[in-house]
Amino acid sequence: MPDLKDCKSIFPRMASRILDEVMMDAALIKELAGVAKDTALLQGVLMRTKESPNSSELVTYAPFTLFPSPVPKSVFLQALSVQTHFNTLVDKISQDIDFLQEALASTIEVDDFTARLFKIHQQILKEGRSQSIVLGLNRSDYMLDQREDQTSSLKQIEINTIAASFGGLSSQTPEVHKHILKVAGRLEESQRILDNNPAAGLARGLAKAWELYGSDRAVVMFLVEEVQRNIFDHRYIEGELWKRNIPTVRKRFDDIYKTGSLDPDKRLFVDGKEVAVVYFRNGYMPQNYTNEQCWDVRLMMERSQAVKCPDIGTHLAGTKKVQQVLARPGVLERFFPDQPQAVQQMRETFAGLYTLDMGPEGDKTVAMALAEPNRFVLKPQREGGGNNIYGSEIVKVLREVRGSTERTAYILMDKINPAPIENYLLRRDSPLVISNCLSELGVFGAYVRQGAHMVMNECVGHLLRTKSSEHADGGVAAGVAVLDNPLLV
Ligand code: ADP
Ligand code: MG
Repeated sequence: MPDLKDCKSIFPRMASRILDEVMMDAALIKELAGVAKDTALLQGVLMRTKESPNSSELVTYAPFTLFPSPVPKSVFLQALSVQTHFNTLVDKISQDIDFLQEALASTIEVDDFTARLFKIHQQILKEGRSQSIVLGLNRSDYMLDQREDQTSSLKQIEINTIAASFGGLSSQTPEVHKHILKVAGRLEESQRILDNNPAAGLARGLAKAWELYGSDRAVVMFLVEEVQRNIFDHRYIEGELWKRNIPTVRKRFDDIYKTGSLDPDKRLFVDGKEVAVVYFRNGYMPQNYTNEQCWDVRLMMERSQAVKCPDIGTHLAGTKKVQQVLARPGVLERFFPDQPQAVQQMRETFAGLYTLDMGPEGDKTVAMALAEPNRFVLKPQREGGGNNIYGSEIVKVLREVRGSTERTAYILMDKINPAPIENYLLRRDSPLVISNCLSELGVFGAYVRQGAHMVMNECVGHLLRTKSSEHADGGVAAGVAVLDNPLLV
C-alpha cells in the first residue's frame, strides 16, 4: 500500500498543506471537528439514529469527512461528461428484450431474486406496457485506479438504476466543507469546493415525468423502507417537488398492499390518491420483499399506468451481470452503432469484468481468480453494500461453486486500487482518529423518455463517499463510508 509520500506526489498542494500543517495539529483538529458537526447540523446533513430509526424527535448528523478529498480535475470532468451516455445506455438496454434475456439467462437459473424480477419483466411484456413515459434516476459510481506512473484513471464500479441515494444530503455537504476550510485558514481551498445540487436535478426529472403524466391531483409516491433512517435525504427531493406544487406521499409496500388498486384503465390509486410516478427508494434487495404481498405490490405497480422510476427493465439493466456483459467486445457498439466516440468514452471507464458462465471462458475466469485472488472482486447480483467477496474468501467460495452452475450467480471484476488519502471520519460516538481513506465518486444522471423521444437527459450532480481503507466494501447507509466533497486538484 502506498504511503503518504506517494499521495503527496499525486496531490502535491492539498496533501502537503492540509496533511502536514492542519492534519497533525491535534488541538486544531479537535476544534474543527466540533465546528464541523455543528455546521452539518445547521446545514441539514442529518440522519435518524440507530436507536429510533423511524422517529425525528432526536436526530444526528450523517457521517462525513472533516476535510474534502483531493480529486484530479480531469478525471472528475471525465466522469461528468460521460454521464448522459450512460443514461442513454441504461435506457436502451431496458428496452432491449432479447439482450436482457440473453444476458441474464444463466443468472436467473441460479439467482432467485433476479429470476423473480425477470418474471415480472416477462409478464409485463406479455400484457404490453401501459405507460410510454420512462423516468431514469441513476448514479454511476467510480474509483480512481492508481497507475504505475502515479496518475489515476477513472474506473466504473457500477451503475445504480434503482434507489440511488444521497442526492439530497450531498446537496448540503459543500457548505460544511467550505466553512471548515475557512475556519482552518484555507480560504483559497474553501472557494474551490464545488456547489452541488443533485436533489434539484433528480426532482427536475420527477417533475417532468409527473407533468407528462398530466394530472394535477396525481401524486409522486416514494416507495420507502420499513426502517427510514435516511429520510432527510429523501426530504430534500420531496421539498423540491413541493416547491413546484407537486404533491408527494411516502408509502411502504404494506401501505400499498392495504390501500392500493388499479382501476379498469390500470391507473394506480393508493389511499384514494392517483399515483403519477412511483419513485423506488426501496425494493432493490431480496430482504426488502418481506412477504409475497410485497411481490404482488411490485407487480401491480409495474402493470399500472404510473411512471415507474425505475421500470422493471431499467432495474434489470442495473444488474452486475449486465455490467459484465456490456464489457464484452462489440456489445456497446450494438447500442451505439453510429457513435464510436460515445462508445470509447464509456469503455474507457470499464474495469476488467469476467464471466463465470459454464464453459471454457468461465473456467478460465475461475483459474485466473484462484491464481491471484487479491487482484479481483467476486460479486453476486446484490445491491446495498457488504455483499462482495475479496481475497482468500474468493478462493473459498470459488472452490465450492466452480463445478456447478451456482457459480453463474457471480461475476468477477478487476479490483480497483485508489491511492489512499489521510482524513478524519466524523461519525457519532466514534473516536477522532486519522484514517487512511479511499474515496468513491458517484455521478447522478436523470432522463425522461416519452415513447421514442428523449425529453430530458442530464448529468445532475455528484457524490463523493470516503471510507477507511480497512473496509473492502460497504456504503454510507451500511455504516462504512461517509459523505465527502471533491477538492479538485
Ligand atoms: P453494491 O451494489 O452493493 O453497492 P458495488 O459494486 O457498488 O455493490 O460494491 C460495493 C463496494 O465495494 C463499493 O462501494 C466499493 O467500495 C467496493 N468495490 C466494488 N467493486 C470494487 C472493485 N472492482 N474494486 C475495488 N473496490 C470495489
Ligand atoms: Mg455500490
